[in-house]
Amino acid sequence: MPLTRSQKKFLNNLFQEEEIFWDKPSLITYGTDSSIAKGRPDVVVVPGKVSQIQQLLSFAQNEDIPVIPRGRGTGRAGGCVPVKGGIVVSLLRLNKILEIRDKDFVAIVEPGVITGYFQKILSQKKLFYPPDPASASFSTLGGNVATNAGGMQALKYGVTGNYILGLEVVLAGGKILRLNNLCHKNACGLNLAPLFVGSEGTLGIINKIYVKLLPLPESSASLLAGFTSLAKASDFIQNLFQLGIVPCALEIIGPTCIRALSAITTLPFPEARAFLLLKFDGTKSSVEDHLNLTQTRLRADFYLTATKERQAYLWEIRKKISPAAFKLRPNKLSEDFTVPRGKIRAFLSFGEELAARFKLPILMFGHVGDGNIHTNIMYDAKNKEELALAKEIHFLLLKKVLELQGTITGEHGIGLLKKKYVDLQLDLPHRTIMAKLKNTLDPKNILNPGKAF
Ligand SMILES: Cc1cc2nc3c(=O)[nH]c(=O)nc-3n(C[C@H](O)[C@H](O)[C@H](O)COP(=O)(O)OP(=O)(O)OC[C@H]3O[C@@H](n4cnc5c(N)ncnc54)[C@H](O)[C@@H]3O)c2cc1C
Repeated sequence: MPLTRSQKKFLNNLFQEEEIFWDKPSLITYGTDSSIAKGRPDVVVVPGKVSQIQQLLSFAQNEDIPVIPRGRGTGRAGGCVPVKGGIVVSLLRLNKILEIRDKDFVAIVEPGVITGYFQKILSQKKLFYPPDPASASFSTLGGNVATNAGGMQALKYGVTGNYILGLEVVLAGGKILRLNNLCHKNACGLNLAPLFVGSEGTLGIINKIYVKLLPLPESSASLLAGFTSLAKASDFIQNLFQLGIVPCALEIIGPTCIRALSAITTLPFPEARAFLLLKFDGTKSSVEDHLNLTQTRLRADFYLTATKERQAYLWEIRKKISPAAFKLRPNKLSEDFTVPRGKIRAFLSFGEELAARFKLPILMFGHVGDGNIHTNIMYDAKNKEELALAKEIHFLLLKKVLELQGTITGEHGIGLLKKKYVDLQLDLPHRTIMAKLKNTLDPKNILNPGKAF
């Protein structure tokens, strides 16, 4: 239902001229994220005060209007795409780091703070916020909390949710739920903050975040290990953990990625069929120990080490995978499937088998230490046969992930694109409790309707 004249008048009164957008280009821009999903809101607002969000959510609940919270729109699952019209609320003006309590190892931030900027400010104070989605330089902490974003360093340090001590959330209807907490431990009552972590804008609008911090590690170094077969790389992963070493990052670059990368760059070990990229951090001596131990105790066909300043070169290789993929085909079906660590080898081999059987490139890369293997099925959308094959491969991979007791999303969330697969993973009692929680917090289903669950 389009907004009525009186509804438009209310919104124009609540927001300053520069805080509200009705023009077509804005509605088109705010109807997308970084997935293929598209929608169109009725209006976009960019509040500068929490009281505006409160009034907005009270109004929207009374008038039955959808409200879609939005950070930087970098989501990969269509989470902030407005599929039922309504009001997109951009949190980008609530972008202050409110307090850095260095003695408490806690920071209090607004949701629109850019993650990478926050990390940079902290590092000047020798403090550390480890979650590092590859989008850190342009995604928001609010979006990271709402999707429970992971990243390369999740292997050692965990994901966003592991660093959320408390939250302040504006609920449907406009009341504020204060889950304030400065303590690294807190056993008083049910811990409600995690309920909003990964809630993808469906339970409330996060307006303040209490973040746990760590001391900044003194040193780091990276190691590129090359293998002449994918099986050797899989063995290396298992053996590494058996050595008792947990790197802060362990990424895989599979055979098809190497083929794509070779088209745009010269790789340091041309015979490689797979690379593992490892990063260690800690004290200088522990980093050196881990580098030495790995190279002396574990077998790879090729090793290249880089210390602090020279590491960027190695990580550039990893960053080039996404652009290189388009050298193979113009379109991709991309997933963030995750399997239990013990099933990594089975999943990687299955991907290789499908690529050979269907003769389409399947890139497998990413956070292999967590079992979170990004899978890009490359195809040409103009070729109907390839499109059908890509969809078939996608479904076979999804079924395999579930057979291996994995998850259909390790870090991007359900959003819009994976909604149709949720029933395949979560059983009825689980889904019923989620629906009841949603109904308790948002009885009129105004918050990001049509998403997640
Ligand atoms: C190049 C690239 C690399 C990426 N790498 C990673 C990666 O390594 N790991 C990873 O996990 N993800 C990754 N992503 C996905 C994406 O960056 C993350 O999901 C990120 O957390 C989204 O943040 P955002 O600010 O863009 O949120 P948006 O995309 O704007 O929103 C995401 C969801 O959060 C909700 N939301 C946003 N702000 C709030 C709020 N204040 N209150 C309530 N709900 C809110 C929205 O409604 C939506 O459902 C990547 C994306 C790109 C483009």
